[in-house]
Amino acid sequence: MSDRNQAQLLVALQDLQEMILEAEDPAQRQQLESMGFPVTGIEELRTAQQKLEGLIRPAMLGKYRRLYKRSGRAIVPVVDATCTGCFAAIPTSFTSSVNRDKVMTCESCGRMLYWP
Ligand SMILES: [Zn+2]
Repeated sequence: MSDRNQAQLLVALQDLQEMILEAEDPAQRQQLESMGFPVTGIEELRTAQQKLEGLIRPAMLGKYRRLYKRSGRAIVPVVDATCTGCFAAIPTSFTSSVNRDKVMTCESCGRMLYWP
């Protein structure tokens, strides 16, 4: 599996974890339920998370988890040659077509980068 696919899986995993966090937040849950939207499906989200994690290379997943714990957003898009995690400029060598298909690391904040 190419790194490009790995980046997409990591982004999907991060989105999923954010959804689970929101669904688990008691205040948010209560608010949603009081508006008539009971929070369900957390188990399904967790199952999907496990499936996704199974598709990601262990080394990549380990790195992702460390970053996620530290910063909350482990993988961030590069927009206008800028890391959207810390707003540092990404060196032009990173944006060469060779590297576009790899999961690169921001030299400034250490987050994983992807090109949306
Ligand atoms: Zn950065």
